[in-house]
Amino acid sequence: MYEELKTVREKCLSCKRCSLAESRHNIVFDDGIPNPKLMLIGEAPGFYEDKEGKPFVGKAGQLLDKIFASVGLSRDKDVYICNTIKCRPPH
Ligand code: SF4
Repeated sequence: MYEELKTVREKCLSCKRCSLAESRHNIVFDDGIPNPKLMLIGEAPGFYEDKEGKPFVGKAGQLLDKIFASVGLSRDKDVYICNTIKCRPPH
């Protein structure tokens, strides 16, 4: 699975198939580990995600991390997070 994700990520890094490529600062591909206990799929990156290139890093992401911690999970060990859309829709 890791190699497949790496291949798709590399394709996304240079992708210009839609107009979102014109306004993005970063591709927001994923965070966490492949083969996780839990996989979350968000809809699209927001301002902070676009800025940092990671999903769920704004206030919602901080809350999500607290929720993970409350049930003994962490992004580093147990969770895989990605978005359906890899580039931030402006506005
Ligand atoms: S949103 Fe998806 S299709 Fe559009 S440029 Fe980004 S990676 Fe490519």
